[in-house]
Amino acid sequence: MWSDVRPRWIVFALICEITAVVVTVASLWGELDSRHDLIWFSVLLVMGVAQAEMSRQIERVRRWMGGQTHINVTSVWYLAGVVLLAPGWAALLSAALYVHLWIRVWRQVSTRPAHRVIASTTWALLSCWLAAVTLQVTGLGILAGTPPNAARGAAIVLVAAAVFELVNLLLVAASICLYTRQRSLTDVVGTWSDNMLELVTLCLGGLTATALVYQPILVLLIYPPLLLLHRHVLIKQLEVAVATDEKTGLFNTNGWHHLANRELTRAQRTSSALAVFMIDIDHFKKINDTYGHLAGDAVLKAVAAAITNAVRDYDAVGRFGGEEFVVLLPDLAGEDISATAERVRHAVTQLAVPLSDESMQTISGLSVSIGTATYPAAGSALDRIIHAADTALLRAKRTGRNRVEHSDSPNGSAAPTPRPPMDQVKSTSDH
Ligand code: GH3
Ligand code: MG
Ligand code: MG
Repeated sequence: MWSDVRPRWIVFALICEITAVVVTVASLWGELDSRHDLIWFSVLLVMGVAQAEMSRQIERVRRWMGGQTHINVTSVWYLAGVVLLAPGWAALLSAALYVHLWIRVWRQVSTRPAHRVIASTTWALLSCWLAAVTLQVTGLGILAGTPPNAARGAAIVLVAAAVFELVNLLLVAASICLYTRQRSLTDVVGTWSDNMLELVTLCLGGLTATALVYQPILVLLIYPPLLLLHRHVLIKQLEVAVATDEKTGLFNTNGWHHLANRELTRAQRTSSALAVFMIDIDHFKKINDTYGHLAGDAVLKAVAAAITNAVRDYDAVGRFGGEEFVVLLPDLAGEDISATAERVRHAVTQLAVPLSDESMQTISGLSVSIGTATYPAAGSALDRIIHAADTALLRAKRTGRNRVEHSDSPNGSAAPTPRPPMDQVKSTSDH
């Protein structure tokens, strides 16, 4: 952690972790003799552990795959804990369930370093504690031990779910912003469907608590939908993985084709334009030969990020294996095509990619060659458009590299953009 992570994330995480320990211990101090809390805590712990054991295989595959794991099915027990327990006990429950998952699943998969597991535990714990404290200070109280009262019961569950979700979202978003440099809104707050799934787990948490208080035996009905939900989360993760290039996080060939065919159909239906860029890094082999494969990979990631940042959010950037990228740009035509391609080309020339060793060296002087093609000028089948862009790319390579060539017909009639070729890739020592 000390060598890999940015200091401000460490400061943020440590502050949260110390706060979490202090508030849990301080709260528990006054609640320890509560038999009622001890009983509910034990019941929820046993139920949470049972659920985790039943879906251990699913969770193991999820963690092994890595990627985004915004969704945590365990939230069901967190929310049930918040509406049934005093704040200290609710916090303790979340920590206990995390520790169980860590011992039984995550530790063996170890796709995530310990400091991140501890930080995630902290975000969950603080969310539970703050939600429980909110119920206490607003006078809503807990669900248990009161006669059924629809309005109050609903208010308790809704307030608890809203505070839990809000605090968790803010802590996770702040953590991601401090942890990484490259991020989009969906990286930070999750996708729309991530958040819908989170809402479903919270709904199940509310139902679990209500069943436990008023019809305990019915709580068994919560397990089938919960296990199915867990499997559904895994399927969603698999869908993303199948379409994603692991090295760069861009679409892979499959994923890009799937999306491109859909966009092409839409363009045909609405008679709108569409552009495709084929992009190839110039003299990439030399980088591998000079600095090694790891440095080559770092360059691939940096170029992927530069391309992504230079195009619009809804343009689809993919990696076609090796050092070849492809971009789909819906509704782009005329002058905008040259301007966008030039922006991509220029962005790559500005890169200075740090070598991961101690040398403080950076790789700069990078460049790409770009071939563009458009629908409908280049044809109406995706393969034709890609072929036309590829032909234009070859021409850009032949005529000096670090340039953009356009293909406006299926045969690839050139619209050259003369540009003096850049120097070879060179290394500069910044310090
Ligand atoms: P040109 O300017 O003509 O495109 O030359 P180039 O050297 O970029 O192209 P060439 O096709 O000769 O070499 C591509 C190299 O990319 C060869 C291969 O070892 C390397 N490569 C392919 N995939 C990866 C990868 O995932 N990581 C790394 N580091 N290198 C890769
Ligand atoms: Mg190349
Ligand atoms: Mg190539």
